[in-house]
Order: sequence, then structure tokens, then C-alpha cells
Amino acid sequence: MPPLLSWTIAVLIGVAIWKIGIASIRSFSPKPGEQKHELEDVESLEVSFVCVECGTELRVRRLGELQVPRHCGEKMKVIQGSGT
Ligand SMILES: [Zn+2]
Repeated sequence: MPPLLSWTIAVLIGVAIWKIGIASIRSFSPKPGEQKHELEDVESLEVSFVCVECGTELRVRRLGELQVPRHCGEKMKVIQGSGT
């Protein structure tokens, strides 16, 4: 094998590995402006969080990562279809 050809192949392999490495790093980190979790539109489902202590009701319009919020130190109750 001529030395020039083996060098070319070596460079091409190096570039390929580098490109794969960059692509895998990019797939792990979210792009700017891109949401980590897909937002679910739940406005039509009439989902609300209600505080069992004081009765404060929070209407959920969009749901990202499901995490029950706290109010008055207690976890809020999830209700669906409050009727209002
Ligand atoms: Zn409360």
C-alpha cells in the first residue's frame, strides 16, 4: 500500500470517529430552545390541583414532567373535571 493512500485512509477514519463522537455528544445535550420534556396539552381534560388544607385550586393547562406541587406544606390533590 502506498504511504499516501494509507495516510488518507487514516485521516478519513480519524474524521469519521471525530464526527461520531460530536454527534453522540450533541444527542445527549438538548439544543437551545428545545424542551426537555414534551408538553402535553391537558386543558380539555380539565385537570386541576387542589390544596386539601385551604382549598386553593390550580388549573392545569399544560403538563410537562409530572410533579405534584405543594401548597400549605402538603401535596396537592389531583382532580379532573371540577365542573366550572
Ligand atoms: Zn393551601
